[in-house]
Amino acid sequence: MAKSTSKPEKMVYYFGSSKTEGKGKPKALLGGKGVNLAEMTSIGLPVPPGFTISTAVCDSYSKGGQRLPKDLMDEVGKHISALEKELGKKFGDDKNPLLLSVRSGAAVSMPGMMNTILNLGLTDTSVEALAESTENPRFAYDAYRRVINMFGDVVMGVDHEHFEEAFAAIKKSYKVELDTDVPAEGLKELVVAYKAVYKKYAKEAFPQDPSKQLRLAIEAVFKSWDSDKAIKYREIEGIRGLAGTAVNVQSMVYGNMGEDSGTGVAFTRNPSTGENKFYGEFLINAQGEDVVAGIRTPQPVVEMKKWNKSVYAELLQIKDTLEAHYKEMQDIEFTIEKGKLFMLQTRTGKRTGAAAVRIACEMVSEKLIDEKTAVLRVPANDLTQLLLPSFIPAAKKSAVVVTSGLPASPGAAVGALAFTAEEAVERAEAGEKVLLVRKETSPEDVDGMHKAAGILTSTGGMTSHAAVVARGWGRCCVAGAGDIQINEKGRKITVNGKVYTHKDILSIDGTTGEVMEGSVDTQTPTLSGNFATMMKWSDKYRTLGVRTNADSPADAKKALSFGAEGIGLCRTEHMFFEEDRIMAMRKMILSEDEPARRKALSALLPFQRKDFEGIFKVMSGLPVTIRLLDPPLHEFLPNDAKSQKEVAESLGVKAADVKARVEQLHEMNPMLGHRGCRLSVTYPEILEMQVTSIVEAAINCTKKKIKAMPEIMIPLVGMVEELAMLKVKVQETIDKVKADKNFTGKLDILIGTMIEIPRAALTADKVAAEAEFFSFGTNDLTQMTYGFSRDDIGTFLPEYLRKEIMPVDPFVSIDQSGVGQLVEMGVKKGRAVRPDLKVGICGEHGGDPASIDFCHRTGLDYVSCSPFRVPIARLAAAQAAIRNS
Ligand code: PEP
Ligand code: MG
Repeated sequence: MAKSTSKPEKMVYYFGSSKTEGKGKPKALLGGKGVNLAEMTSIGLPVPPGFTISTAVCDSYSKGGQRLPKDLMDEVGKHISALEKELGKKFGDDKNPLLLSVRSGAAVSMPGMMNTILNLGLTDTSVEALAESTENPRFAYDAYRRVINMFGDVVMGVDHEHFEEAFAAIKKSYKVELDTDVPAEGLKELVVAYKAVYKKYAKEAFPQDPSKQLRLAIEAVFKSWDSDKAIKYREIEGIRGLAGTAVNVQSMVYGNMGEDSGTGVAFTRNPSTGENKFYGEFLINAQGEDVVAGIRTPQPVVEMKKWNKSVYAELLQIKDTLEAHYKEMQDIEFTIEKGKLFMLQTRTGKRTGAAAVRIACEMVSEKLIDEKTAVLRVPANDLTQLLLPSFIPAAKKSAVVVTSGLPASPGAAVGALAFTAEEAVERAEAGEKVLLVRKETSPEDVDGMHKAAGILTSTGGMTSHAAVVARGWGRCCVAGAGDIQINEKGRKITVNGKVYTHKDILSIDGTTGEVMEGSVDTQTPTLSGNFATMMKWSDKYRTLGVRTNADSPADAKKALSFGAEGIGLCRTEHMFFEEDRIMAMRKMILSEDEPARRKALSALLPFQRKDFEGIFKVMSGLPVTIRLLDPPLHEFLPNDAKSQKEVAESLGVKAADVKARVEQLHEMNPMLGHRGCRLSVTYPEILEMQVTSIVEAAINCTKKKIKAMPEIMIPLVGMVEELAMLKVKVQETIDKVKADKNFTGKLDILIGTMIEIPRAALTADKVAAEAEFFSFGTNDLTQMTYGFSRDDIGTFLPEYLRKEIMPVDPFVSIDQSGVGQLVEMGVKKGRAVRPDLKVGICGEHGGDPASIDFCHRTGLDYVSCSPFRVPIARLAAAQAAIRNS
């Protein structure tokens, strides 16, 4: 039974020459379209008059068991009378009929939620009147067949196909191919056929009462709000808290009344470059849907001045008026009926990252907006498009997409397929562009990953090895493309039945995850003056520091050029994988006892010292957080027989011994195993070597007047006892090196820890007593809080997202309510015992705008992210500061 609901006080808002009742009303009440129609009318723009039925009526309709509020149609009737008076036409008239369009319009745009119904009010009688008053029967019958079709489809659920079939039959009998070639007589026959289709499937005749047409159309819009499609869309987009959709009823204007009529869409500025130049297209003698349908090719809007100079001048004037009013780039729709211009819609225009930056900067120069507004206008993530190569949109349009995976590291890469790291290195060094295709990557693959143009994996998630490493370098990567079956031996992949070999070229888009056939053309970015301006403003308003995660002088340099203020995480293990070091590392791991281990470590020391000197030099005067060895040792060991044999030969031992040691080091759960600070507890000599090389590098730099500012970070601490013990060891080593080197100057090396195990966050007050700084390792903290393996999440996360168990990948954007609580607690408890505790974040979240907002609110001192995300972090930090001030 229908529930009774209270009727909204004012249900209908008129816009026309006599009044604009919706002016200044919230979008939540009248929808975006409704508010902007009222707004445009009120500033004197030529908008066909009409009225908006509020979203509150939709709410009442849904809650009241799909019944329109009692007095609604009376109120609508009054507004129709006002329209009739303004236009000198009558709804359903047999002489000069008023025709209407009915459109939905919620507070946020919901494309495709409901189709528009045009030409409402046409009946068997009024169509004759329209034919006569316009002296254009073809036009009148075309309008009539359109409304029967649209009304049948949208309101009565008659399948569009049935109408199409009828149209095809008429075209056949007139021996024409195009709709536009059917003469008036044919359209008259078509109307008869359409009415028969309507009656057959709607089980009643097409309504000849215009008021009934209008009532049913209004109800259909309200019903569409609760359609499965619309509900799903709102869920996916996270649209909540809206009452419903508004309904816009507007008098019709026609762009298809002859060669002096037309219709078009335009942006007030170029949406792909941001250039302040009117940009759009129009079609002569056409209705709105013809532009979108792509049957005829529209002309660029500038061509309009040749067609109708005064209309073009008026449109340019309107463009300026709209920008001055909205202080934003607008996306508009217009129609010209017999040489008279009408505005049908305006809304904020979508744009590329480059355009967003340029428009924001230029609008500040034009004094349309202030700096803070400009900073908030650019979606921080969109800056990526300005920093990396991308596919030329036109080239991408014609590309064949073979499959897609996760957009793990943005950019565009084109290359022939290489199946092992060695192959990638070999072919890249020979001058070929290759894509490294692997099931997943491991630290052993880094050389090949580095030399490849891009990386494509068939498993793994957003924080898989491939993704993290690729992002760090700004290397394009598509991960977890599950449709790809890799045959490494056969040097080929199979994707949905199609085979690509080592000779084939693919193009991968790390921004969207698409994998395309052949070589798609790319473009390299130029960092314009506007980009620098945006960065300058970001630095002016942000309070969070921005550091980078970098393991080499080259990465540090890149990050510095992007504005990094130090290194927040230097993962020292990455330094051990290079050709000249891995053997020494393997010797160390395979050593049977401490003396043998020390011997191997002493061979590694000069390499580490040199790396640190290089990094300190680049980052002179800026802090460099160096993390002691973190991953499980077996990651450094050779896993295949060929490399085991090579190691054995170099060590002068039997291959079987190497194999046995590798097996011995195998762990069931390496991420929870012998890694992090546990390595330093069991093998303190590793810590000693690393700290020695840091301190020696710092001393050497100081002697060369380079200001080295190392911070030694102990990873994966879960108990203060671990930290306390290792801190003593670090301090002793620092003192010993200073004494050995007769160095009496100050080094000011901070000793701190990562907070990446929940227990460390829970006991942060105890941990802080021993730590001079905290850095939240939110990759591991997320992994251990959820109990999700960061490397295996790809197997179930897509399903979790699809089923809406979670809104986003928690390894991409921090889970503020769960993991976030641990961060908040860590900061609070830590600062309670050590008020000057420096706190940062170095997990992947440090480069994610939503997580950066959280870090700002939680009072962190800095975020640290991969070099290519540094500009994004600077902008996001400024936005967080402005938004939360
Ligand atoms: C982390 O766990 O967040 C972190 C930065 O360390 P890694 O990713 O190297 O484990
Ligand atoms: Mg970690």
